Amino acid sequence: MIEFRSVRKQYENGTVAVQELSLSVEAGTMTVLVGPSGCGKTTLMRMVNRMIEPSSGSVLVGDKDVREVDPAHLRRGIGYVIQQAGLFPHRTVLDNVATVPLLFGRKRRTARRRAAELLERVGLPTDLGKRYPAQLSGGQQQRVGVARALAADPPVLLMDEPFSAVDPVVRAGLQEELLRLQGELGKTVLFVTHDIDEAVKLGDKVAVLRQGGYLAQYAEPDDLLAE
Ligand code: ADP
Ligand code: ADP
Repeated sequence: MIEFRSVRKQYENGTVAVQELSLSVEAGTMTVLVGPSGCGKTTLMRMVNRMIEPSSGSVLVGDKDVREVDPAHLRRGIGYVIQQAGLFPHRTVLDNVATVPLLFGRKRRTARRRAAELLERVGLPTDLGKRYPAQLSGGQQQRVGVARALAADPPVLLMDEPFSAVDPVVRAGLQEELLRLQGELGKTVLFVTHDIDEAVKLGDKVAVLRQGGYLAQYAEPDDLLAE
């Protein structure tokens, strides 16, 4: 579903963020990219929705080279969740989520109904929909971020350290919720973290990256070698 073929990335200033690397994420599974800060995780992830172009090699989504797909169309099929949920501060929680179906031309009432369903799906009490993002806890905001990413019903989800900013107890809850959702909805997920425990817990496959953009290991969690 997502495939990196001999991908390499060198930035304009000469930094090589990703050495030639190949890996693929099967449809309906979650692959976790794990490694220290600066090892190229975000660079790799952003190649999938073409926020970053590889210097060489190619990236495929659903068997199509991303360069051959109109970027707007490509991104419609890819939900993106980042560390600070990136919610619109001046819109209510419900409207933050409803914005996406509205953009796709749904009627206001339908969009809001869909948003309410999604908030429930990610485990948020419905009455929180009336609040503004700043009136929610960090963990609740991340749930809203996930609901918003799901609003377009994309087959692919990119998640860049989505739970890093919340405390460990809340994080464990969010991880459980994500596993449940992913199983239910069958999304193809590429998840980035610097936390190996999180990678092992969530990943069907784990790609361990090393400083300098090297792929050190790529295996199922049970088959990872201690480092
Ligand atoms: P994040 O999504 O974590 O906010 P950023 O895009 O801000 O990621 O940056 C990721 C990493 O890349 C950071 O280590 C940052 O210092 C580095 N970085 C980002 N832009 C540049 C740049 N123009 N030149 C050098 N390093 C950069
Ligand atoms: P990670 O997500 O694993 O923290 P990144 O992909 O953000 O790593 O960064 C990989 C390397 O590329 C780092 O050395 C970072 O400083 C560098 N980098 C990231 N973005 C840029 C940029 N726009 N220009 C130059 N270097 C960058």
